[in-house]
Amino acid sequence: MKDSLNIAIVGAGMGGLAAAAALRQVGHTVTVYDQAKQFTRLGAGIQIGCNAMHVLRGLGLEDRLRADTFYPRSWNNRDWKSGEVMFDILFGREAEQAYGAPYLLAHRGDLHAALASAVPPEIVKLDHRLTGIDQTPRGVRLSFDNGTVAVADAAIGADGVHSVVKAQLFGDDTPNFTGRIAYRTVFPAERLAGVGVQNCTKWWGEDRHVVIYPVKPDRSEIYFVTSQPEPGIDLESWSTTGDIKVLREAFEAFHPEARAVIEAAPDVHKRPLVDRDPLDLWVDGKIALLGDASHPMTPYMAQGAAMAIEDAAILARCLAGCDRDGVEPALRRYQATRKERTARMQMTSRQNVWGKGVTDVDWVYGYNAWEAPLAAA
Ligand SMILES: Cc1cc2nc3c(=O)[nH]c(=O)nc-3n(C[C@H](O)[C@H](O)[C@H](O)COP(=O)(O)OP(=O)(O)OC[C@H]3O[C@@H](n4cnc5c(N)ncnc54)[C@H](O)[C@@H]3O)c2cc1C
Repeated sequence: MKDSLNIAIVGAGMGGLAAAAALRQVGHTVTVYDQAKQFTRLGAGIQIGCNAMHVLRGLGLEDRLRADTFYPRSWNNRDWKSGEVMFDILFGREAEQAYGAPYLLAHRGDLHAALASAVPPEIVKLDHRLTGIDQTPRGVRLSFDNGTVAVADAAIGADGVHSVVKAQLFGDDTPNFTGRIAYRTVFPAERLAGVGVQNCTKWWGEDRHVVIYPVKPDRSEIYFVTSQPEPGIDLESWSTTGDIKVLREAFEAFHPEARAVIEAAPDVHKRPLVDRDPLDLWVDGKIALLGDASHPMTPYMAQGAAMAIEDAAILARCLAGCDRDGVEPALRRYQATRKERTARMQMTSRQNVWGKGVTDVDWVYGYNAWEAPLAAA
């Protein structure tokens, strides 16, 4: 048997942790570095598509996630004013059978904690902000702001949309700001005073929308996320705390069912929505990008983390059984396998039409990264 590789992953987000778990499963030694001093539980939800669930099942997380998340009947798309149903993306048992895995709605912190549980805590080095990365004849050298230097046979930049790894490898351009921001929050359902949130609903307005869903199996916690224009936004003096009054005013003409949820929220936080055009390259020698570092997208298909999680499975399949000489071709194969699908996802998501009318969803949810064909070696 060949020696296992020593792989460094920069970023312990959804993508970095999924990659660490998947690479360990094929026998490699992994260290994950993150700039955070500790993981924080941001008040946000996350839709886990059936395609992401295939990968998470392979990482041994299905039972835990089913027990801790909401199992929706559908993603229901409704008109902001009349409430008329525009298109219902059906999930539940039938879709689970068709796609081979469930569609789940989670608290983002619960998904992150599940992924963290799939790797030994000692391989995750917090308070390590990457400042430099270079290739040497023997591998990759990583420098961190705390003075640590690490050497690895290969490195994965899973460091998000403002990736330092991407900037060093392929240049430091600013992501494309859509001119829109997302307000989001999670709060106890008891604040709704009887208004039931039974399902996942996207309320489509003329220039804004809100997506609402429960994130716990008993519907005890409710999440919503908006996308709305914010004129005169100044990203230089950006604050992540949202003003609940501004949010309520922005949705005051919406259907009473949507408004009731927004009005019940005690507080809210916000972030600008950005994406990028598909990159030409994500791999340079023994370094590869993964997740938002390589293909950031708008959240309108709820597929950004799913793409990072799929990347992890494909990366592990390409690096399975590899020795040092095999790293570069294996990373090129990973890039070649992932590029078309993630680029299609970025460009489709940007249009913000997913579920607005009759939509073919099979190509998204029916993909299983453990079995999908790999690009030619
Ligand atoms: C409003 C909104 C809603 C969304 N909803 C969904 C959804 O429902 N479903 C879905 O699949 N996706 C969704 N997404 C997309 C999803 O959040 C992202 O695609 C996903 O988090 C990307 O994971 P990642 O691991 O690539 O990056 P990140 O989650 O950004 O993680 C990057 C990590 O790298 C670390 N890092 C950064 N720089 C450095 C450095 N220099 N040194 C060390 N560490 C560093 C960061 O601390 C962080 O932990 C949504 C996004 C938004 C904005």
